[in-house]
Amino acid sequence: MSALLEIKNLHARLAAPNGREILKGVDLTINRGEVHAIMGKNGSGKSTLAQVLMGREAYEPTDGTVTYDGKDLLDMSTEERAAEGVFLAFQYPVEIPGVSTSYFLKAAVNAVRKHKGEPELDAMEFLKLVKGKMDLLKMDKSFMNRAVNEGFSGGEKKRNEVFQMAVCDPTLCLMDETDSGLDIDALKTVASGANSLRGPGRALLVVTHYQRLLDYITPDFVHVMLDGRIVKTGGKELALELEEKGYDWVEKEVGQLA
Ligand code: ADP
Ligand code: MG
Repeated sequence: MSALLEIKNLHARLAAPNGREILKGVDLTINRGEVHAIMGKNGSGKSTLAQVLMGREAYEPTDGTVTYDGKDLLDMSTEERAAEGVFLAFQYPVEIPGVSTSYFLKAAVNAVRKHKGEPELDAMEFLKLVKGKMDLLKMDKSFMNRAVNEGFSGGEKKRNEVFQMAVCDPTLCLMDETDSGLDIDALKTVASGANSLRGPGRALLVVTHYQRLLDYITPDFVHVMLDGRIVKTGGKELALELEEKGYDWVEKEVGQLA
């Protein structure tokens, strides 16, 4: 069976006028059913990779290929990627004043269903769908009627991102530092939301600076990103090693190999 996501020699730069190259040849293969973690120092390019996979215009892929479910991902618009089942939970979730979470989510869910040729959900069916996910993520009912992320605390925004992810039922879940700014209870809640999405048909890519989240979302593979490349890959024990020894030893090791 072919991989769900296959990234080969991906290079990307900041869009003009800056134009600086950030991703310098990323290789990564993710199969359905797997959970991958990407760790690395601040500024190593983790968020850039997530944004490029989602098709954000601030970044421009310049070389390499990304195949998603057999299709050329880089050739798709952000909307098509979402409709095809790619979901990115942002490091810095945006506020959408004037648009309720309920309206926003129903539109998102139905856009994906329409793309798949499935009937759109009516209000009752939609409420039924979100109810279970709200319980899972311990969301207050009032959230649904509030504008998306407006006035939410940092932790609430992160919880809301994972809630949205759970409702949208994506095939490839990208989580960018969803753990930062969370206290331990919120962290566990967010992790249980992410874990509820684990399954044979789906894959998760979890970007994190700290090992902490990986105590609750056990990855199958841990990758270290350094200066725009994945320079080391291991199992879940690599995360513990990084926690203990920091990132410098990886740099030294890579330096010696180069
Ligand atoms: P990480 O998520 O690993 O901390 P990022 O991908 O956010 O790293 O950033 C990698 C490098 O690219 C950093 O030097 C950062 O300042 C720069 N960078 C990323 N996005 C932008 C942007 N939109 N504008 C300017 N610089 C950026
Ligand atoms: Mg980042």
